[in-house]
Amino acid sequence: VRATRSGEEVKSYVPSMGQIFLRRFQMVTQFRQAIDEGQVTVHYQPKVALPGKQVLGVEALVRWQHPEFGRVDPDEFVPAVEAAGLVGLLTSFVLDTALDRVRRWLDDGLRISVAVNLSVRNLADAEFPTRVAESLERFGVPGELLTLELTESDVMQDPGRALPILRELSDLGIELAVDDFGTGYSSLAYLRQLPVDQVKIDKSFVFGMGTDLGDLAVVRSIVELGHSLGLTVVAEGVEEDLARDQLEAMGCDVAQGYLISRPLAEDRLEAWLQARTVRSLGRTSESSGAV
Ligand code: C2E
Ligand code: MG
Ligand code: MG
Ligand code: MG
Repeated sequence: VRATRSGEEVKSYVPSMGQIFLRRFQMVTQFRQAIDEGQVTVHYQPKVALPGKQVLGVEALVRWQHPEFGRVDPDEFVPAVEAAGLVGLLTSFVLDTALDRVRRWLDDGLRISVAVNLSVRNLADAEFPTRVAESLERFGVPGELLTLELTESDVMQDPGRALPILRELSDLGIELAVDDFGTGYSSLAYLRQLPVDQVKIDKSFVFGMGTDLGDLAVVRSIVELGHSLGLTVVAEGVEEDLARDQLEAMGCDVAQGYLISRPLAEDRLEAWLQARTVRSLGRTSESSGAV
């Protein structure tokens, strides 16, 4: 830190619009190479059944360790990659990495599903379901062990175009989840018409439910609505025991959040799973003797 007048110091640490633009530009031009060089990886965040702690699946969350910028969050680079028309590449990479992981679990006798986040651009690609089907086949993973997550606003942006693609994906036996539920239009009437299997309550409501009666009411009504539509209800952002207990009392089906685990790199996830109850093929049992 240079000893200059404080006004100048602060200024030098706030990136200008030009710098932000340049950084985004660099990121999108380097993205393909970054995948080839292993800078882009997939972390996995466990999801557990309520009540209890049985591990049902994991969510695949992309990470980029950039040689110059350090760790770049998906909230920054995914929109840049989408805008550059490279999201097909991102989704294929994450999907293949995740299905390869599920395949090796199956080989070890473990039945763990994986959820992959889609971009709205995937829903505009008529070839997308075919590519997903090919990937499932290549890795020998049944569709029911794959969940695809979409936000409400992604689907609502162009429902006429998204709907046939969602139907095709659903016909592959894939589970479809509406992510960040409650933050968008909440077109409840529309949700009923979509071939959706799960709703994920947005973490902002889950964070607030211990202290804010409004958030608690939103969470409760999503659980009730989801169940009345025959959907599995997942809560994300479960950070505290209180939230977990409240969700369990409401009958929420699945919990995901830092209380259970942060997203983990593959090797750390393996160690985490060793100590947990996992669905094994054919029956339920401990994955190991440890607790
Ligand atoms: P999302 O799909 O809603 O994922 C959940 C986000 O919440 C993740 O952030 C996760 O790390 C974070 N999270 C989970 N539990 C907790 C908790 O208890 N407390 C807090 N504070 N945060 C929690 P992450 O990994 O930074 O991802 C952000 C978003 O980026 C994702 O939101 C998703 O929309 C997008 N994203 C991530 N990976 C991919 C990908 O492979 N493809 C696409 N298209 N988007 C992705
Ligand atoms: Mg998600
Ligand atoms: Mg979410
Ligand atoms: Mg999101």
